[in-house]
Amino acid sequence: MRIATYEHAGQRLVGRVSDDGLSVTAFALAPDRARLGALSLIERGDWRSLPTQGAALALQQVRLLAPLPHPRRNLFCVGRNYHEHAKELRDSVFKNNNANVAAWPIVFTKVPECVVGPYDEVQLPHGITEQVDYESELALIIGVGGKNIRKEDAMGHIFGYTIVNDVTARDVQMRHQQWDMGKSFDTFCPMGPWIVTADELDGTRTRVRGWVNGELRQDGHTQDLIFDIPTLIETCSRGITLYPGDVIATGTPAGVGMGLNPPQYLKRGDVVRVEIEGIGAIENRFA
Ligand code: MG
Repeated sequence: MRIATYEHAGQRLVGRVSDDGLSVTAFALAPDRARLGALSLIERGDWRSLPTQGAALALQQVRLLAPLPHPRRNLFCVGRNYHEHAKELRDSVFKNNNANVAAWPIVFTKVPECVVGPYDEVQLPHGITEQVDYESELALIIGVGGKNIRKEDAMGHIFGYTIVNDVTARDVQMRHQQWDMGKSFDTFCPMGPWIVTADELDGTRTRVRGWVNGELRQDGHTQDLIFDIPTLIETCSRGITLYPGDVIATGTPAGVGMGLNPPQYLKRGDVVRVEIEGIGAIENRFA
């Protein structure tokens, strides 16, 4: 099932997208629950039996929001997690680091407040960074929480998948050693267009692509992940309880602006599109 969070006639709603992808029908949720977006479903085990309310609306009539408009806490994100991307960084940025693949994944976070909708504008932080870059990523959303989740059980903890653009200010990322600041500017996490539930998509074998102004820059496959999805869930839950609604962004394939020769960073007016097979696409203008 595809679950969308959207606005219509001044109301926030959570609904299921029709099989043809053209319309959406709202679940019967109290307004204070619908404010949470898809989290209102993820947090209850019986959501599949929730009745719907009202007529189906054409998707063109509604404004899609991020499926999780304000995640409860920071998003877990994984750095340098595709073999080809690790190679492009080794060849360009980390010239003194011969290790292509580390023993443990790089994990950092983005603050929840930087999440915006699938077609919203991303604001370039004026005067603060000159090196804003895109990262097309598959993100998984935890459905069943837990601590010390074992790899072999991990897939059963996934509620579904969505798309994020892990927008990054490279100069700020490098300046502070820790990556959170360069990754967490307001609007730096476009997300959507909806969640595809885990029974309908296998995130371990899907294609992730990214375009800048119509030019294909990233074309990767999650089979190229260095640390696969079960390993990421096992890692993030080591001694840390994961909760329903937690997001883990799985990393970006090769082809980021920093890895080009010479590097090409985003400027005002650029449009970045991220598409993932089995989910759909998000597209954001940089302003
Ligand atoms: Mg990333």
